[in-house]
Amino acid sequence: KPLLVGLTGGIGSGKSTVAKVFQILNIPIYFADDRAKWLMAKDEGLKHKIKSEFGEAVYNEDGSLNRKHLAAEVFADDQKIKALNNLVHPAVREDFSIWASSQSAPYVLKEAALIFETGGDKDLDKVINVSSPLKVRVSRILMRDAHRDENQVNDIIDMQLPDEEKNSKSDFVIKNTDNKLLIPQVLQIHQKLLLEASV
Ligand code: ATP
Repeated sequence: KPLLVGLTGGIGSGKSTVAKVFQILNIPIYFADDRAKWLMAKDEGLKHKIKSEFGEAVYNEDGSLNRKHLAAEVFADDQKIKALNNLVHPAVREDFSIWASSQSAPYVLKEAALIFETGGDKDLDKVINVSSPLKVRVSRILMRDAHRDENQVNDIIDMQLPDEEKNSKSDFVIKNTDNKLLIPQVLQIHQKLLLEASV
């Protein structure tokens, strides 16, 4: 069974960018956000639970998820967002565990914006946090996402655990400020994880 490693970081920290470097090293990566969307659309057990909680109308007649309807159902309601997360997160954790045990690499990565926030670190052997200064993160997201403005980015940042806290809870921190230093940091952690996986 491979070593299970989380790859997290706040919005705009550069998680996906770092994940691409690990992918070049042939490390299998589980993209939790994409997989959560897939499970909500396709996993019958999870769909049943979501329908019981939020009503049949959150799914279209053809069985696909009606994202707009679901978003409107939970919009600005912390209790409802929590209820939805309490259904989706355990499904993702179970799906990750099944996926990971079918991989034959020395270690695998789970890329997710929220790991400590959802208790997902309990299933992981190690966690890497990608860390970048707040200002840099905001400006990267404004450059990348035409549909987001500064207030929206700040709202998302407020929902995530502060970077310093994630750094102190993590086994490894990648400082993604200088492009030239990114790959050396990934290589160093890769070596350490290979060693760890071999004992
Ligand atoms: P999200 O949580 O929104 O998915 P993320 O943490 O995965 O964000 P990325 O998508 O990797 O972040 O990076 C955000 C943007 O910043 C991207 O457009 C990416 O190309 C750019 N970026 C990331 N790292 C660097 C870097 N070191 N130098 C320049 N641009 C970068």
